[in-house]
Amino acid sequence: MTTPSVASDAGALLGVYARVGPLFVAGEGSELIAEDGARYLDFVAGIAVNALGYNNPIFREAVTRALDTGLVHVSNLYRTEPGERLAAELTKRFAGQVFFCNSGAEANEGAFKFARKWSGKTDIVAFSGSFHGRLFASLAATDRPDYRRPFEPLLAGVQIIPLGDEEAATRAITRERTAAVIIEPVQGEGGVRPVANEFLMFLRKLCDETGAALIFDEVQCGLGRTGTMFAAEQTGVVPDMYTLAKPLGGGLPMGAVLLNDTIAAALAPGDHATTFGGGPFVASVALDVVSAIADPDFLADVRAKGEWLGGALTALASRRARVREARGRGLMWGLELNEIAAPIVAAARERHLLVLTAGPTVIRIVPPLTVTREELERGVAILDEVLA
Ligand code: PLP
Repeated sequence: MTTPSVASDAGALLGVYARVGPLFVAGEGSELIAEDGARYLDFVAGIAVNALGYNNPIFREAVTRALDTGLVHVSNLYRTEPGERLAAELTKRFAGQVFFCNSGAEANEGAFKFARKWSGKTDIVAFSGSFHGRLFASLAATDRPDYRRPFEPLLAGVQIIPLGDEEAATRAITRERTAAVIIEPVQGEGGVRPVANEFLMFLRKLCDETGAALIFDEVQCGLGRTGTMFAAEQTGVVPDMYTLAKPLGGGLPMGAVLLNDTIAAALAPGDHATTFGGGPFVASVALDVVSAIADPDFLADVRAKGEWLGGALTALASRRARVREARGRGLMWGLELNEIAAPIVAAARERHLLVLTAGPTVIRIVPPLTVTREELERGVAILDEVLA
């Protein structure tokens, strides 16, 4: 096999990503392997996607078994088994129905449409620090002025209000206009911020009173990342819809909207669709990924490792003056710095640890959920070194 020239091939890709570092050619467990054979401990995991790490036998067997059926894509014109089984698996934990799509942004766009159809209203309320995707409605609900500005006007009727502000929420969420309220129970891109339970409870009550759909965007914090299947399980609040993506297909593109029965009953054939959504190949693999994550022992292991990681990062934060605070849940953590985070991320990469930013001053740590305690210790030691 000849290795293509990196420079010439990279030039053909649209320049919307600032790609850095080595050319990765393989992965094993929690490590990425570069062209020159160097190994990088990966606490990015494809941005919270690769829950089972690289080259996991569960994933490999799932892919092989799915291919053996000969069915990759059939179309939603017909019934296939894997999507039905995956939907049944997901609704064991959230009573309702499932719409499959291909990404997190698409899941949120779908959820907004479902909320409009069900409520007969139009407006959407989102929160400061939010990230819900890059399409026209999901971007309208995303609090990143630099991402939004070049593409305005975005979807009308979307308000972003301060996170945690009950008065602002009471003013913004109305019986007349609000179709949906969307929130990440643990904000990801906005700086790894767990939202206070009391605020989620307040939103639940407000949505019930005004007839708005409460959407929990668990694209990043869901599916085991925080140590429970849904992050919301730790809050005592049940939303009307969940949106999921990232780890769902084990690295294959897949998103989903979980709708409660009331909202699902408002949707009819033709209301929404996508060609690839929930195809038999991706759904079959996702079923094995979801089953692996849902195993109580697997989730208990995530919680135990998360507890250790949280303790280690909190200790690091008190030891290193450059770190203001450690925040997180399970295996989703952020280190808020007193400075710009990108140079620290680069310095960690030089030492073969991959972490990423979440906003300008936060280092985000989202390793594979299969990461070992020894790997966590190694990663924290490298971070400690670069922050010294
Ligand atoms: N919602 C959340 C909470 C996310 O973190 C992301 C991506 O980072 C998205 C939605 C968008 O997902 P995608 O990039 O698959 O469209």
